[in-house]
Amino acid sequence: MSTYDVVIIGSGPGGYVAAIRCAQLGLKTAIIEKYSTLGGTCLNVGCIPSKALLDSSHHYDDAVKHFEEHGIDIPGEIKVNLEQMMKRKSAVVQQTCDGVKFLMDKNKVDVFEGIGSFKDATHINIDKTEGESETIEAKNVIIATGSKPSTLPFIKIDKERIITSTEALKLKEIPKKLVVIGGGVIGLELGQVYSRLGSEVTVVEYMDRIIPTMDSALSRELNKVLKKQGMNINVSHKVKSVERNGDEVIVKADDKKGNEVEFTADYCLVSVGRRPFTDGLNADAAGVEIGERGMISVNDYLQTNVKNIYAIGDVVRGAMLAHKAEEEGTMVAELIAGQKPHIDYNLIPGVVYTWPEVAAVGKTEEELKEAGVDYKEGKFPMRALGRSRASGDTDGLVKILTDAKTDEVLGVHMIGARVADLITEAVTAMEFRASAEDIARMSHAHPTYAEAVKEAAMAANDRAMHI
Ligand code: FAD
Ligand code: NAD
Repeated sequence: MSTYDVVIIGSGPGGYVAAIRCAQLGLKTAIIEKYSTLGGTCLNVGCIPSKALLDSSHHYDDAVKHFEEHGIDIPGEIKVNLEQMMKRKSAVVQQTCDGVKFLMDKNKVDVFEGIGSFKDATHINIDKTEGESETIEAKNVIIATGSKPSTLPFIKIDKERIITSTEALKLKEIPKKLVVIGGGVIGLELGQVYSRLGSEVTVVEYMDRIIPTMDSALSRELNKVLKKQGMNINVSHKVKSVERNGDEVIVKADDKKGNEVEFTADYCLVSVGRRPFTDGLNADAAGVEIGERGMISVNDYLQTNVKNIYAIGDVVRGAMLAHKAEEEGTMVAELIAGQKPHIDYNLIPGVVYTWPEVAAVGKTEEELKEAGVDYKEGKFPMRALGRSRASGDTDGLVKILTDAKTDEVLGVHMIGARVADLITEAVTAMEFRASAEDIARMSHAHPTYAEAVKEAAMAANDRAMHI
């Protein structure tokens, strides 16, 4: 029987990054993945394919709506070739997954294909696809089994017309009408993909605003822009039934006043969140406690109630984000190697890859109000930037929240072109506990979208220049 210092179950961004870091630190490492490709949800059916489709549909949208004003004439009709778009997306996914396999080989991590389950706290059984099984020994185990789409109790996901993100990423036709239940990250990103490709998209959101966990200034601006782009957005709607009738899906909801509203479509995307995935892990055999809704409870060191067994990523508390899973993978590897790493969860950025993009880090205004913090706000609209006018991306704003007494940056909230990349400036500043004045006094290249960050920081000190 092979013995390892660390065995990782699950090869998503949490698991594979943990594996690389363990190997770098000289630990004998194995990773178990039930699917034939590595990379987990993020690479196979999440971050990467969704961004590939967002980029392709953005190109199409630009060609149809914006090329003419730039003086680019395309003779004949511009058409979507969905088959080719999906083929390209699959190729991007394949290359990325192959890249993870390359990294495992490079770092001499043993990869096992099969379902990993506990025999006890130090023995993992691998049920291979061909029916064989093998047991390996592990001094330490990292559970990185990720998450699956969740649904509402009365919805039957048939994967044909009533679908989750996994099916929405590989549709064979463009829906004429698409109802999206849940105005969160998945609903808006994939809703925008199909809206650009020509679907009539209707979003039905339970809360009183879309992206409800982000700062309300971002919800308001994104709602305005998406409506302008043609999406129908219904907030404060409580979905109560979803039925399929042939090729039609009927969604019934109660609006704010309690009146029943009916939406019909040929496809319905259910994007109401995801649930931690621990099915088949046989965690009981190792004595690992699985908490509410399948989530594994961990302490500050990502240790489960069993000392040598850790859990990371979507299967534990916190934001279900690839980069959060990666940080946790690195942290556990370093802990096992005897180091003293640390994650500041307040500084994990959140991004929505619609266009305009939405990005945030730190506290929202709502959170500061609730905590009774005395804060100041600095805001700057993208439309006031020369760079935005040059590209035609004038929607959006940057909002910086600072401590009223010390000027320390407490939260940065952005919507606009390329803010998914711009947010890193805010993360860096906050990691070093910068003040708004620190950001305001740094030179920002001109003309760039990043100048909005400098101007918002200046606005927090009542000295914005270009507005
Ligand atoms: P996962 O990536 O879910 O990986 C878990 C792996 O474990 C899977 O491969 C699974 O097959 C395997 N596994 C499970 N049980 C077993 C077992 N018993 N034995 C062997 N293998 C097992 N996040 C972002 O940060 N940015 C984005 O742009 C983004 N876009 C997304 C778009 C979509 C449509 C979706 C669905 C998600 C997106 N996410 C995004 C979220 C991101 O994908 C997850 O947060 C991330 O994948 C979590 O990583 P993980 O390692 O915890 O788990
Ligand atoms: P989400 O939590 O982002 O959004 C779910 C939305 O559904 C929320 O707005 C919620 O209020 C709404 N909702 C819940 N119950 C409802 C009901 N009964 N009727 C109507 N609306 C209802 O979840 P998601 O969009 O499914 O994404 C799942 C996870 O995947 C998220 O945690 C997210 O972090 C991750 N993800 C991240 C990215 C990214 O980083 N760009 C992209 C996609 C997914």
